[in-house]
Amino acid sequence: MTTRYVFDFSEGDKDQKALLGGKGANLAEMVKIGLPVPPGFTITTDACRAYLDSGAAPAQLADEVSTHLAATERAIGRTLGDPTNPLLVSVRSGAMFSMPGMMETVLNIGLNDESVQGLAAQSGNERFAWDSYRRLLQMFGKTVLDIEGHEFESRIEAMKQARGVSQDVDLTAADLQELVGQFKAVIEHETGKPFPQQPRAQLDAAIEAVFRSWMGERAVLYRRQERIPHDLGTAVNVQTMVFGNMSEDSGTGVCFTRDPGTGEKGVYGDFLMNAQGEDVVAGIRNAHPLHELEGEVPAAYAQLLENMAALEAHYHDLCDIEFTIERGKLWMLQTRVGKRTAAAAFKIACQLIDEGVIDEREALSRVTGQQLSLLMFPRFDRSGDVRVLTKAVAASPGAAVGRIVLNSKDAAEWAARGERVILVRTETNPDDLVGMIASEGILTSRGGKTSHAAVIARGMGAPCVCGAEALAIDFAKKQVTVTGSDPLVLKEGDLVSIDGATGEVFLGEVPVMASPVVDYFEGKLDPAGADTDELVRAVHRIMQIADANRRLAVRANSDTPEDSERAVRFGAQGIGLCRTEHMFLGDRRELVEKLILASSDADREAALEALRPLQQGDFEGIFKAMDGKPVNIRLLDPPLHEFLPSHTDLEVKVAVARATGQPVSEAEETMLAAVRRMHESNPMLGTRGVRLGIIIPGLFQMQIRAILDAFTVHQAAGGTGSVEIMVPLIDTYQELDIVRQEAVALAQAAGYEPGAGHEVSIGTMIELPRAALTAGQIAEVADFFSFGTNDLTQTTWGFSRDDAEGGFFSQYLDKGIFQVSPFEMLDRQGVGRLVKMAVDEGRATKPGLKTGVCGEHGGDPDSVHFFHEVGLDYVSCSPFRVPVARLEAGRAAVATGAHTAST
Ligand code: ADP
Ligand code: MG
Ligand code: MG
Repeated sequence: MTTRYVFDFSEGDKDQKALLGGKGANLAEMVKIGLPVPPGFTITTDACRAYLDSGAAPAQLADEVSTHLAATERAIGRTLGDPTNPLLVSVRSGAMFSMPGMMETVLNIGLNDESVQGLAAQSGNERFAWDSYRRLLQMFGKTVLDIEGHEFESRIEAMKQARGVSQDVDLTAADLQELVGQFKAVIEHETGKPFPQQPRAQLDAAIEAVFRSWMGERAVLYRRQERIPHDLGTAVNVQTMVFGNMSEDSGTGVCFTRDPGTGEKGVYGDFLMNAQGEDVVAGIRNAHPLHELEGEVPAAYAQLLENMAALEAHYHDLCDIEFTIERGKLWMLQTRVGKRTAAAAFKIACQLIDEGVIDEREALSRVTGQQLSLLMFPRFDRSGDVRVLTKAVAASPGAAVGRIVLNSKDAAEWAARGERVILVRTETNPDDLVGMIASEGILTSRGGKTSHAAVIARGMGAPCVCGAEALAIDFAKKQVTVTGSDPLVLKEGDLVSIDGATGEVFLGEVPVMASPVVDYFEGKLDPAGADTDELVRAVHRIMQIADANRRLAVRANSDTPEDSERAVRFGAQGIGLCRTEHMFLGDRRELVEKLILASSDADREAALEALRPLQQGDFEGIFKAMDGKPVNIRLLDPPLHEFLPSHTDLEVKVAVARATGQPVSEAEETMLAAVRRMHESNPMLGTRGVRLGIIIPGLFQMQIRAILDAFTVHQAAGGTGSVEIMVPLIDTYQELDIVRQEAVALAQAAGYEPGAGHEVSIGTMIELPRAALTAGQIAEVADFFSFGTNDLTQTTWGFSRDDAEGGFFSQYLDKGIFQVSPFEMLDRQGVGRLVKMAVDEGRATKPGLKTGVCGEHGGDPDSVHFFHEVGLDYVSCSPFRVPVARLEAGRAAVATGAHTAST
């Protein structure tokens, strides 16, 4: 069977997004449920991929387009570009994942010097016909022919000036006709060829341009930001034009079935009468709130409300809709499950449970750990003396402080040199993406909740305030005047604070405070309290659902009592990694130096004995904070010379002393000799982890005794729980075996019998490829495994994190070698394969072997799903990430259909 590349809107449905793109699949779905959709067809993503692979559209595409075009023409009773009664179409991009405004759409295809007359006659509106033609020339010129937009925009501006009018709508039919002449001249001048008059040639060129726009710079950048694969391609929708700019009872708009900022059900949106679709989003004129549409075209408004309700009921979720009204008749042009703020996502999920629309497990799948982490960001503390410059549209929540910068390029440059910036624009367009990504927040003087800035900022989770009309921006002088009773001039580089949840803009840097969601996790807010806000109640409810559904336990990485206490408040069920290195710093450094420089066994033992009670004290504090829960303590991991003075500093100091005839103390000499002896050219792969424990007699024993004695003290005080002693960086089971035998002897001496599931157990990190590859053997001497995915990633890939991230990573990301750093999101194919292998082989040796992860991946949403899938018992992450890990562990269980098991 040969591939089919074109499907009529009546043939698809919403589940075919991969083939038809989101826009095409949802247009088909609207047709299916009987909503009024202008007829048309979708060219598949397969066709786009074929085009991108070979540089040309597949041979059969032209014929398939002809067949479907003919069907559309029959349905409408007009033919494309007919001189007297033309069918016009739009050519619309639409990929599997929504990429708002990132690719191209061309409207009014089929107009030419003849059919523009036909359109005028048929509509009885000359102005409309010429306006449509100039829009085609402009969009076609930009999108298909790559002509700079300002070539056209500047001519519109000039025309408005010449006529003494301020708005596009004030230009007359004759003005627009004149502009059409100018635009055609621009095209001919820029490309050396006249604008193609042949409608089908226009159509084919526009289709190709949409294919090409997939690889456009801003589309590529957006995909990288949103982690959308580059090889999906876009579908192309060819759709009969309907005209919101045909008459006074025509119009166009966008709406949401609920407020995408708060989740409240209602009538949210913006519209413009006598305008074409892109005008609303572009902020050309200030749009009107949707409810005012009732006064303009009551019947169409009533039908729109009905359709909104029908769509929400059908999709069981907030829908985002584009519509156009042509001479009082309503047409639906697009819908999708709408983007929303993090707060709205939680609230809507709970509202939908209460409305009986979805069940709890579905609600859990509607929110993400990423959204939860956004809600945990701090907000502004208003208690001090703050000056509010203006209050505008709260377009994307969050608190941002930064220096104002007025263009995207500068924003990116300032950010690259470490400045926090707020991008200030009249309105943003897709070319501003680079600057938007680089900024802490976005502030515009025009546009509302559906403007480009608002939509993109919400998608990125960046704070955004829109439509701040009090700001007069002077790009030439690089300054912003805050108009009003008490005017003020802000220069580029001045500090402002913006609150995307309230729409407020403040002068200077306003201090921030914890978010209510963090206060809730801290136990400072009662989620059941009568006046607790809806968001906190929703987060609490969803967290309970997550906890009830998850199979993975969640622990925290913590090495102080304070962090451990917070971890418990945030829901940690134990400690997955207590590092002991900080216990060797500060005043204790001196003891460590003594240990290293010890020239006799007695000296070394004395140094260790001095350290032991100090360590024991540390552990007692942690056991107390974690009472009743497992605590996993890792024996000393970093190379010892990290605790000594720097090699170069010492060399220089001694050399200078010698050169100037100054005395060099014996201590300095010995220290230098030791540092020289211990110097390693590649410490990451040097004497660290278990290797240290093996070559420095007594070191691990001292730590193990401190742990056991602390645990005994804890129990004697009535405490409970369990302790896991973890050996770092082993390559082979022999290493673990040696340490284990010593540990068992010490434990027995302290009255414990170590073993899997006992009060005291002894296990290892799996963080080197060799350990993963021989996990079956290692499991014979390990009571548990904990995957150290940071080192495992470094050693599997063969690069050190610091060198890689500071070095070649940005280019690797640019070139798409990585979609995202493997230190952020676990590399499933490589590192993940080692993890899975080690789990499987470890459990083959020792059924029920306890496994967990303690690398930073333990708090990364995607990685948590992976750890769930390979069957780990727990993930461990920083205390602040614990709620995110709990949520994602619940979502992972729901996604794989697993049911609750033990922790
Ligand atoms: P985007 O993906 O950037 O939203 P769209 O394909 O939705 O691009 O089109 C841009 C604008 O043109 C939207 O406002 C849309 O409603 C409008 N539009 C697209 N096709 C038609 C059509 N056939 N008739 C009228 N307006 C259209
Ligand atoms: Mg759209
Ligand atoms: Mg490690």
